[in-house]
Amino acid sequence: MVIRHALMVLATLATAAHAAPLVIAHRGASGYLPEHTLEAKALAHAQAADFIEQDVVLTKDDVPVVLHDIHLDGVCDVADRFPDRRRSDGRFYVLDFTLDELRTLRVCERRDPQTGRQVYPGRFPAGTGIFRIATLAEELEFLAGLDRSTGRRTGVYPEIKQPAWHRREGHDISPLVLDVLRTHGFAAKADPCFLQCFDADEVQRLRGELGWQGRLVLLVGEAPDDAADPLLADGVLANLAATVDGIGPPLSRVVGPDGRPTGLVAAAHRAGLVVHAYTFRRDKLPAFAADTDTALRMLFVDAGIDGLFSDFPDLCVTWLHAARP
Ligand code: CA
Repeated sequence: MVIRHALMVLATLATAAHAAPLVIAHRGASGYLPEHTLEAKALAHAQAADFIEQDVVLTKDDVPVVLHDIHLDGVCDVADRFPDRRRSDGRFYVLDFTLDELRTLRVCERRDPQTGRQVYPGRFPAGTGIFRIATLAEELEFLAGLDRSTGRRTGVYPEIKQPAWHRREGHDISPLVLDVLRTHGFAAKADPCFLQCFDADEVQRLRGELGWQGRLVLLVGEAPDDAADPLLADGVLANLAATVDGIGPPLSRVVGPDGRPTGLVAAAHRAGLVVHAYTFRRDKLPAFAADTDTALRMLFVDAGIDGLFSDFPDLCVTWLHAARP
């Protein structure tokens, strides 16, 4: 039975219309080290992730830096260092700090800003370690250095965060990110880079007005509970394929609560789009799977995704390695 199952897995992966699925290190190997630190990126590289993710926001002086949110709360000691720099909503914004100021902060494992408790209790202990914020340019240079010293090329997967919010605040993030990417050799579809964004209008702008010719992925949130997935409506995916190379849906949008594929991946493939789903976490498994092996089989084999964002890239790499020659 075990052998027959293994052969079925192999056959499914081998006949997939697309190349071997990609393992994308979500905020680095963030299951093991604080997210978006260079240390987490180094570990992801060592764990043989195919791509490593950078979320990007702007500083007050318009430098793209690698952080998940427009807020600093919960991932560094900003409340201790700059207590009077909160906005009226009580939050600290990256955009209110210069790069020089941000460089003085210590980054830590993510905490809930309300309770102060670590979001994932089993992970790296919050408040320990010496970690810093890196600029996008610094991270790309760092990864290029690791590629050179290890002889293994790793791709990058930057996300432009909240472009409309940045513009309302008087800052235009996308051209600045594209400048950094182009300076570091990422500009064409053949380059190992996927640029991602949740903002469908900005994705159009990146492809049109801003002339981005590299690969582009539109991120999408949860589907509405009470209706069919709007991405499956006639012509929607085909329309998207005129602009983007792929979509990035949550896991729940590719495997349903009954454990069966929703049909989104097959429909995306028919439209010529790849599907990179988010996010696989050992310590927060999707509701449809009781263990990591089952979850990975459902995603990679049953649903047939082309890539998976994971806080634990090593688990995905190991699983895929065992499942294919
Ligand atoms: Ca992201």
